[in-house]
Parts: sequence; C-alpha cells; structure tokens
Amino acid sequence: MNNPQCRAYIALGSNLDNPINQVQQAFEELAQLPHTRLISRSSLYQSEPVGRLDQPDFINAVACIETMLVPRELLHALLAIEQRHGRVRESLNAPRTLDLDILIYDDLQCADEDLTLPHPRMIQRSFVLKPLMEISPECDIPGLGPIAPLSAACIDQRLTRLPIPYP
Ligand code: ADP
Ligand code: MG
Repeated sequence: MNNPQCRAYIALGSNLDNPINQVQQAFEELAQLPHTRLISRSSLYQSEPVGRLDQPDFINAVACIETMLVPRELLHALLAIEQRHGRVRESLNAPRTLDLDILIYDDLQCADEDLTLPHPRMIQRSFVLKPLMEISPECDIPGLGPIAPLSAACIDQRLTRLPIPYP
C-alpha cells in the first residue's frame, strides 16, 4: 500500500428498507474498510426527494474518513457496500436502499467516465452541504471554494436534522 493517508468525504443516503438503519450500518462498514479510519460523522438528516417526488423522504449524512485506498479502490469498496445493502440501479433519482458517493478526495479534481471529483452535483444539494458543513465548516471544495457561502446559498429543499443519538 503505497498511497499516503488521504482525507475523503462520503455522502450516505437511503430511502428504502429502514433508511435510518441502512445509514447507521453503513457508517460502521466505512469504519471497517481496509486501511481506512472513520474520522467523523454528521447527524442524520431527513430530506424530501429531489427530481422524482413520488417516493419516500431520504435519510442523509456525511462521513469524513482517512484512507490509504486510492480513489478507484475507494469507489469500488463503496459500490460493494451498496451491493451488500441490496442496492438495485433502476434509474436516476430512483428510490434506493443505500447510496454512497465520494464528495471530495483530498484536493483531487477529475472528470472521468466512472469517477468525477468533487462530486458534480454536490453544491446543488442541501442534503449534502448541510451535513458536510456540520462536520467540516472550514472545508474547501476543490475548484469551488469554501463551503460556508455555498451552503448558505443552497436552500433547495426541505431538510430536517434528526435528534437521533448514535447507537
Ligand atoms: P447517483 O449517486 O448519481 O444517484 P449512482 O449511485 O447510480 O448515481 O452512481 C452511478 C455511477 O456514478 C457509479 O457507478 C460511479 O461510477 C459514478 N460516479 C462518478 N463519480 C462518482 C463519485 N464522486 N462518487 C460515487 N460515484 C461516482
Ligand atoms: Mg451514487
């Protein structure tokens, strides 16, 4: 493992099959990834669906990890966790048991077919920016700048922080 420790932020989301459990379980699985440490996790947030409205509310959160996995190793590890949670890829904005997206990986910027960093839609989404702001208010989004004004400007949807303690 030659890659140095890198800091990454992961978005977690679920709106099927007990979403709160799905997200809490996913935090544990992130903590158990090889060569990876879970640094912090946001509160859970409940958000109204975006794009396709005929589906349940989502539970969202953001995790900060330190990892020696390179970006594609991390992506594949996240896709494997989604699979274990019974994720079915139906269509864009469809309901899902678990979605894990890499928001930021160090200061990397790329736009490859299978991996775009920072995540291309993150600054349009309150359900990403608010939990990210909670755990990393000083965060700089590569190529886009400090999170605080971006988060303040993003008021696209109903979003509620849930008063649920960690298990
Ligand atoms: P979405 O998260 O946009 O609803 P999916 O979860 O179905 O869509 O992801 C589709 C593909 O997006 C993944 O197979 C992955 O290759 C690609 N992708 C591109 N950039 C990223 C990223 N930063 N994090 C996670 N997946 C990404
Ligand atoms: Mg995804």
